[in-house]
Amino acid sequence: MPESLRTEKEKGLDKKTRREQMSSYSGDKERKNENTEAGWRQYTNGNVYVAINIFDGTKIRVTNDDEFSADFPESVDMKITDHCEMGCKMCHEGSTKTGKHSDLSDPDATFLRTLRQYTEIAIGGGAVTSHPQIDEFLVYLKERKILANVTLHERELMDNIERIQKWIDNKLVNGVGISLHTPFDQTVCDFAERNKNTVLHIIAGITPFDWLKEYGNRGLKLLVLGYKNWGRGEEYYRERQKAVDLHIGALERNIDKVFEMFKVVSFDNLALRQLNIRQHTDDEAWGLCYQGSDASHTMYIDLVKGEFAATSTSADRYNLMETIDDMFAKVKGTMSQMV
Ligand code: SF4
Repeated sequence: MPESLRTEKEKGLDKKTRREQMSSYSGDKERKNENTEAGWRQYTNGNVYVAINIFDGTKIRVTNDDEFSADFPESVDMKITDHCEMGCKMCHEGSTKTGKHSDLSDPDATFLRTLRQYTEIAIGGGAVTSHPQIDEFLVYLKERKILANVTLHERELMDNIERIQKWIDNKLVNGVGISLHTPFDQTVCDFAERNKNTVLHIIAGITPFDWLKEYGNRGLKLLVLGYKNWGRGEEYYRERQKAVDLHIGALERNIDKVFEMFKVVSFDNLALRQLNIRQHTDDEAWGLCYQGSDASHTMYIDLVKGEFAATSTSADRYNLMETIDDMFAKVKGTMSQMV
């Protein structure tokens, strides 16, 4: 692999470290086998070399050009149902008890057959466990070596905990996101401690900072999502703007504590903006961690409506096309980069 490769980690790494990383992912046969055993999988996407660890989700992207340029999405936010019993007032998807399910009966008859191996799919809804074809769909994805992650309301997890555990044990899902809606739940905490591929999800503006204290210092992973002023989130924000802004402010003030409390803390691009994470991060850490704008190698697909877009809150939506590459080409580069 050329010495001149640039990585998203470049600013934070000296040459030696870079070389070590490269040899780790592109070495001789023996080393490749070791990497396979350790969960590392590799592929090329446009001018980007990608290594992803299917056990813990760690991903490294490398290019020897000035800009990363992907040909297809490496991560797809995929809505499979609009059905949900929870009725959350800020639900940006607007999901309800009468919401419809998508048709997952013949995925190979759709663009799904064009998804590449090791693409990450964040399956969401709605309540994903309510979809009558979810189990078969997860088997299909596993057989295609597509990495399925599911996101669940914490109550949905509690109601389906044995089923979800089986999904994990049978490697039908690679990651489980649990969105927190109560101050603390011991069962959720135990589940997250037991299953290292679990990520606790919180929403900036909704989840009080104090709720994180009990979950902290246990080696858990946290994903902070930005507040989506979309769907029912629009009305919620109109009615409770002050409270939402206060929660966002409190989270931003305490962000250094959050970094200390959790083993891994990640953000979607919306949360990066709302919490001014760039200002709390030095150049080295930013260069190391920032994964690029939405739609640079990610996209959103709503299988219920048969639409795709750059993100779940994009106003510009299009009817599903024949291939994932065609759809990605339509949304690629439409979202602004953070610097
Ligand atoms: S936010 Fe999630 S759990 Fe709540 S209503 Fe919407 S889909 Fe259901």
